[in-house]
Amino acid sequence: MNRLLAVKSTEDIFLEYRDTPVGRLLEYHNLNRHFDTYLKAQILIGMCMDNRKHLQIPDNFAYIIRAGGANLRYSEFKVSYAIAVGGVKSIVLIGHSQCGMVNLIERKELFVQGLVDNAGWQRESAEEHFMQFAPMFEIGNEIDFVLSEAKRLRLRYPKIQIAPLLYQVEDNLLYLIQEN
Ligand SMILES: [Zn+2]
Repeated sequence: MNRLLAVKSTEDIFLEYRDTPVGRLLEYHNLNRHFDTYLKAQILIGMCMDNRKHLQIPDNFAYIIRAGGANLRYSEFKVSYAIAVGGVKSIVLIGHSQCGMVNLIERKELFVQGLVDNAGWQRESAEEHFMQFAPMFEIGNEIDFVLSEAKRLRLRYPKIQIAPLLYQVEDNLLYLIQEN
């Protein structure tokens, strides 16, 4: 089942996102909309730390929190700050294809050996480190994860618009996700 919807024109943007900061993000990044001038942030973007992604957005447009898998569960205070002090009313969560946090557990040996070789860790400490943190950052599937994060954040911040999106590293475009 393909739940991703391409955004090739403004008509493809869900009605609830049109003329909101979420819609603007899609227009800037996918549709080359001319950059507007912003004096303050309009949106909070949660996205993965992965190096293959770069968003086309104007200066001052967004707060950005980057964490493995676009997982904001351990960044809640920063999310609250962007809302309470920064005044943003929208959050987008951007998962991406080929995310390293999917099936993280399968990369255990790579992780442990990498810490030993590259950082000078003892194998035992590296294993312990992995086993302590991997369950917190493991995501089963990129799309399911951003959808569940969106649901969680909607309950936590009921007056804030929360939009789950997916970034395809294959074409560097953002996709809407069909929910439910
Ligand atoms: Zn990732």
